Formats: sequence, structure tokens, C-alpha cells
Amino acid sequence: AIDNRKEARGERLRYSFEFFPPKSEDMSDQLWKTVEDLLPWSPDFVSVTYGAGGTTREPTLSTVRRLIAETPLRTAAHLTCVGATKEEVHRVVEEFRAVGVRHFVALRGDPQGGIGNRYEPHPGGYANAAELVAGLRELGDFEISVSAYPEKHPESPDDAADIDMLKRKVDNGACRALTQFFFDNDVYERYLERVRAAGISIPIVPGIMPIQNLTQLKRFASMCGASIPSFLDERFAGLDDQPRARAAVAAEVAAEQIEDLVRRGISDFHIYSMNRSALTIATLANLGLQPNAISSKGAAA
Ligand code: FAD
Repeated sequence: AIDNRKEARGERLRYSFEFFPPKSEDMSDQLWKTVEDLLPWSPDFVSVTYGAGGTTREPTLSTVRRLIAETPLRTAAHLTCVGATKEEVHRVVEEFRAVGVRHFVALRGDPQGGIGNRYEPHPGGYANAAELVAGLRELGDFEISVSAYPEKHPESPDDAADIDMLKRKVDNGACRALTQFFFDNDVYERYLERVRAAGISIPIVPGIMPIQNLTQLKRFASMCGASIPSFLDERFAGLDDQPRARAAVAAEVAAEQIEDLVRRGISDFHIYSMNRSALTIATLANLGLQPNAISSKGAAA
């Protein structure tokens, strides 16, 4: 099992989980059940998205507040600067700081009106994530993670411009990048080589997306510039009406991807949990990992 091999080398496989703030009572129940299920797997940290999918700062703030108050999880808040003045962003930062946030995932955010629209920086705001990172640095000694795009961001004119933006974020104080999801590890490895050649030395943590539903994922992936290799069609072929078999394949695919990345020397992973625990747990179990006993501040739910 992977953890044994890593342990033998004195390294530990580390992973973080990403959540999104719930938009209804049912979704809230689902999230807090997921948090409870994932607690014993001792993630390095968890993060809560911000502003995506029509949510506002309040659901992110209350989710983060509860994670910090009721669980031992190290919790990062995503923060975007789209459509906000610097003063508005600073107020949000202070609200997060007041509930105990010390780690931000600093992002520009998608254009208002959704992906595909033209991005217009707010005249009194931060123009991009690099400027936001610099602003956060001035506000406090925060841990700052940022995004990275192994297949380049759809708005980047080319790979060089994309990596240049990452370099600016790092120069301004980012200490970790979390990648957009990808399924071809060769693409990630080539990207990593270009990133290192540009003098960027922070961890570029692969974003792993366990596939709940391939058809939906394809739609989403095409908007964010992530490609879906044809081997995935083959793996999921004929399973449309077999949710259990589909989930088993999804956990196998995610575990195989992580195992291959570990062979390539990677030890940190960011898992897009989509607020569900089953696939994430099945993936970790497939890697031979086990949940630990936990020292909790209290029940998660
Ligand atoms: P930046 O790093 O500022 O830019 C991304 C790329 O776009 C750069 O490489 C740059 O080359 C190019 N670019 C930027 N501005 C310009 C320009 N003016 N002209 C030409 N090229 C330009 N979104 C949310 O709303 N909430 C979240 O919580 C959230 N979490 C995310 C977490 C991760 C790990 C990732 C990978 C993405 C997340 N996103 C989230 C999505 C993100 O907001 C979008 O991808 C957004 O379009 C870009 O934000 P960024 O911080 O990556 O941008």
C-alpha cells in the first residue's frame, strides 16, 4: 500500500478536502454528515469555496466558522476579488480573521455573469489573484494558497502567460498552488516541469476530482478548460444505470491517478469532495490508507 511505501521513505501522504457552502437545509445536512465521515481521515486541511455557483460570502463565513469552532480541522477560506472594491475585500478578510481563519485560497473569481463572459476588474478592486495575494500579505501573516492550471486557464492566451501569472502570485506571497482537476498525469508532469523552469518552487498540489457523474463532469470541464481523456469513457461504459459499479470505478480511477502521481514523487493532494464522503473515502481506502483515531473538539454535526 502507498502509505507504507511513503512511510518507509519517511514521507507521509497528505491530502486536503474541498467543500462548498450549502445552499439549502438538505445540502447543509449532507455537508455536515460528510465532515463527520471525513474527520477520522485526518486531512492536512480543508477548504471552503467562496462565491462560486451564486453563493455569497455569508454561507462561506458560517461554514468556516462552524468548522473552526466544532472540529479540529485546519480550515482555509477561499476568497475571490471579482466585483468587489478593495475595501469590501478587506472587510470580508476581517470577518474571516475574526472567526479564526489564518489560511486563504486567494482567487480572482470567474467573470460576473458566469464563465465565458469577459472579465472586468472592479475599478476600485484587485484586478487579478496576484494583486489579491499582495493585498492579503499587507493585511496579515496569512498562509496563502492560489490556483494553478495544468492545462492553462481558458482566458490565458498561452502557457507562458499562464505560468507568468502563477509566478506573480508566488512572488507576492503565495506558498502553495492547488490545481484545477486533470486526469492525464503526463499533462501535469509537463506543466510541473515548465513551472519549475520558471523558477517557481512552491508545492503545486494536484487537484483530484473523484468522478460522481462523467456526463456532468464533461460539461463542467469544457467550461474550465480541463480535458476528459477517452480512457474515462471506456472505464464508465455501460454503467449509466449501475450507480454502485460506477462509484467503484470512480474510486479506482481516482486511486490509480494518485498512485501514479506518488510514483512520480508527489505526496500532497487536494481532493474535490463535492460535499460527499463515500467516493473520497473509497478512494483513500483503495490506496491502502486507514482512518485514524481522532481528537475532536466536539462532534462535527
Ligand atoms: P488568476 O490567477 O488571476 O488568473 C488565471 C489565469 O487567467 C492566469 O493564468 C492568467 O494568465 C489569466 N488571466 C487573468 N486575467 C487575465 C487578463 N486580464 N488577461 C489575460 N489573461 C488573464 N472560483 C470561485 O468563484 N470561488 C472559489 O472558491 C474557487 N475556488 C477555486 C479553487 C481552485 C483550486 C481552482 C483551480 C479554481 C477555483 N475557482 C473558484 C475558479 C477561479 O475563480 C476561476 O478559474 C477564475 O476564472 C480564475 O481565478 P484565478 O484566481 O485562478 O485567476
